Amino acid sequence: MSDTRHTKVLIIGSGPAGYSAGVYASRAMLEPVLVQGIEPGGQLTTTTDVENWPGDTEVQGPDLMVRMEAHARAMGTDIIGDIITSLDLSKRPYTAHSDSGTVYTADSVILATGARAKWLGLPSEEAFKGFGVSACATCDGFFYRGQEIVVIGGGNTAVEEALFLTNFASKVTLVHRRGELRAEKILQNRLFKNPKIETLWHHQLDEVVGTDMPKGVEGVRVKHVETGAITEIPCKGVFIAIGHAPANELVKDVLETHMGGYVVTKPDSTETSIPGVFAAGDLTDHKYRQAVTSAGMGCMAALEAERFLAEAGDDSGKDVTEPLGYGAPVKEGAD
Ligand code: FAD
Ligand code: NAP
Repeated sequence: MSDTRHTKVLIIGSGPAGYSAGVYASRAMLEPVLVQGIEPGGQLTTTTDVENWPGDTEVQGPDLMVRMEAHARAMGTDIIGDIITSLDLSKRPYTAHSDSGTVYTADSVILATGARAKWLGLPSEEAFKGFGVSACATCDGFFYRGQEIVVIGGGNTAVEEALFLTNFASKVTLVHRRGELRAEKILQNRLFKNPKIETLWHHQLDEVVGTDMPKGVEGVRVKHVETGAITEIPCKGVFIAIGHAPANELVKDVLETHMGGYVVTKPDSTETSIPGVFAAGDLTDHKYRQAVTSAGMGCMAALEAERFLAEAGDDSGKDVTEPLGYGAPVKEGAD
């Protein structure tokens, strides 16, 4: 028989947005339950140096997230190692089914499921995932000691991954589809100064090449975006760092999304189109996507949940599928 737990505030996700929401909701005496998901601590657990978290000139991403968890727990957040597998937002209390079998019912929900790495979608990328193709340098970089590595992408993640991988690799080639990087200037300066890193501009990954027995990568074929000319680069590891997409699986069919799946919220708010359901962090933010902005939105969501619960009174069971009357929703594909 499945276990059922009721809470005033269910927080889904354990990144900066989720834990900040936990701190604020706990201090509002809402006794929140926070479900951590498959990646406790979120995206920052996949990186090393974080240099833009206020108060810490430099902090390791995993350490910062351990501290955030401890903070939320100390304030009274009930933090649970579980994964929400489906969410029914058609009536209050809202119902969340989970991987463990526990059914969570909640008067309000804070969605903080963040974002996940994007893939190129090439068959050879898929074939070698886990056998030389990765999207997480901190997780897998150690396997390529003394080897050559290729990183695909031109944003902060790609540049940070390339820099981090020089700790292990004999050479790192950064392959980018344009002639300039999107990454912050401070990171670009470090990249261009690093003697182990070579940058190949105006190229796209065409194919990952490798062997079946034993399964492993031997190199990549990259294509010039204008001429179509193919260049072969020998390497043992390929790191795909082409950005992140919002983890919206639980709500994409019931909440409005835009700009490639980001959940739409009311301007200057974390309110979604369903009363009592709030969205914070990278799930909703297509613009900034930073730890500090995610934490800020987690705070907003908890404060808004507190106000919602105070005003809603006991109207549990009411059909809440009618959207709030704010501005025209931006439909998917508007970008
Ligand atoms: P996330 O951190 O993405 O966390 C999402 C959480 O939701 C996870 O805990 C996951 O387990 C959970 N979840 C998802 N689905 C479910 C489910 N079904 N049930 C339960 N839980 C679920 N930002 C900076 O400001 N500075 C940096 O230096 C920096 N470095 C970065 C380096 C890398 C490699 C990457 C990938 C990102 C970096 N960022 C950095 C961006 C930053 O990590 C994100 O902006 C931030 O983590 C977003 O926080 P979040 O709380 O919205 O979600
Ligand atoms: P991003 O900023 O969206 O950059 C993605 C990069 O991948 C871009 O250079 C893009 O090329 C390229 N790309 C996208 N699709 C591609 C494709 N199909 N083929 C080839 N290249 C492709 O993503 P991100 O670097 O993962 O960063 C995500 C967010 O996290 C950002 O807000 C970032 O600031 C934040 N972050 C911050 C830090 C930090 O503060 N130190 C570190 C990591 C991440 P184009 O440039 O041509 O579009």
